[in-house]
Amino acid sequence: MSFIGTYILEISYIIASVLFILGLKMLSHPVTARRGNLLAAFGMTFAIIATILWHRHNGTRIHNVGYIIAAIAAGLVVGWLIAVKVKMTAMPQLVSFFNGMGGACAALISLMEFPCLGGETHLANMLHGEVLAIIVAMVIGSVSFTGSMIAFGKLDGRIHDWKSPVVRIINIIFLVVIVALAIFVMSRGQVDPRSEMIWMYLLLGIALVYGIFFVMPIGGADMPVVISLLNSFTGVAAAMGGFLYDNQAMLTGGILVGSAGTILTVLMCKAMNRSLGNVILGAFGGSSGSAENDVDGHIKEITLSDASVLLNYSQKVVIIPGYGLAAAQAQHICSELDEMLTNRGVDVKYAIHPVAGRMPGHMNVLLAEADVPYEKLVEMENINPAMPNVDVAVVIGANDVVNPAALDDPCSPIYGMPIINAHEAKNIIVMKRGMGKGYAAIENNLFYHDKTRMLFGNAKDTLQSLVGEIKNL
Ligand code: NDP
Repeated sequence: MSFIGTYILEISYIIASVLFILGLKMLSHPVTARRGNLLAAFGMTFAIIATILWHRHNGTRIHNVGYIIAAIAAGLVVGWLIAVKVKMTAMPQLVSFFNGMGGACAALISLMEFPCLGGETHLANMLHGEVLAIIVAMVIGSVSFTGSMIAFGKLDGRIHDWKSPVVRIINIIFLVVIVALAIFVMSRGQVDPRSEMIWMYLLLGIALVYGIFFVMPIGGADMPVVISLLNSFTGVAAAMGGFLYDNQAMLTGGILVGSAGTILTVLMCKAMNRSLGNVILGAFGGSSGSAENDVDGHIKEITLSDASVLLNYSQKVVIIPGYGLAAAQAQHICSELDEMLTNRGVDVKYAIHPVAGRMPGHMNVLLAEADVPYEKLVEMENINPAMPNVDVAVVIGANDVVNPAALDDPCSPIYGMPIINAHEAKNIIVMKRGMGKGYAAIENNLFYHDKTRMLFGNAKDTLQSLVGEIKNL
């Protein structure tokens, strides 16, 4: 490659990396998130164009440019159509699916790069570091691919948890075999390339199956942590590709995804008061746990008119949104209720739990879509101390994130997870369709609490009727 070409390509990669970093930074606030996303996408497009124009291998430029452009166009159209059509509530599944595709790409790249595939070079001709990068990318990419597909199936309700102590033992065996095989492949010297490939395919197969077994037993309220962890896996696998190709843009992109995913995983574990090991090996959520149906108290309902009077004459109201708000697509009417109460002098805030809904930041995205001012969204740790002074806590489609069993029932599968302390408010109104359980599939004592009144119905319809009632006051 000419000196100028190399120079331009490297500068382009640095520019693309800077755009990724700026884009990621902008994603941290709803006001700038959209622009941040576009900026990062622009960085990626720029890196791709620069690679096609200026990359040279042994003096020759990239072949099959037509195929590359056709594949990008096909991916663009399919991805665009899926993203436009997907419902907001199905977003977590989509994220999981796309993440799996990233893992699959990293695994395929590694397989292609393994020198024996073309039979051109011997393993011994490669640096040990390169072989290690290939193996790590292939294994992590494969685990991320199948793991994400299982997570997709679970979030979509097509696949159910498979909890058994046997799975844990199988998983440990898989891990040991993967590490042993990797060391074996790396330690081989000048051998027949074809026989080498057999070991790589074996490693690939085991890693793919391990991805399935890794996610199968994890369930209940732990899925957000797993999705975030798989996301960081994909980033690490992509970063390995960056090492292989000596490509700064790929390396930076991979490191950003890997580190952001890891930080998010750690933060979520903290938010749920659990260690990562406990999430992966534990049996959180789902079947195990305390006397699930052993609930004290009675369900008490409230009429729409009583609820409207209570809210209208309150001073402080905290809305606690959960998955049901997203499922009912009730964010706009919820914002209307907030505006109406605010105009009447009520101090309205939203309590945001880090794992409310079905994806990290789900409630923030949902409420931002309805133009709820960002300052009104208060994080769990900041709103909890104020809860005893709140006149009415309005729980809209939330369940697990307000379940007091997390605080006071050591036998509960969600014990230890911090919650929004709705039970400390002076009055609690819960809007949900019936007595359906939340994601962790456990009973919630809050609904039977003395201070709680249930307002049954689809959240959107209930909120619409409530807004109508308040208008007439
Ligand atoms: P939950 O899943 O605990 O509860 C949602 C409640 O909403 C249900 O009890 C349901 O009751 C009600 N609901 C459903 N549809 C409607 C509707 N149309 N109108 C009114 N109510 C409705 O939600 P939370 O947000 O409290 O908790 C999130 C859970 O999901 C946590 O366990 C979390 O760990 C898990 N999770 C979170 C992810 C994330 O990244 N945020 C990802 C994956 C899982 P009913 O049927 O009676 O209406």
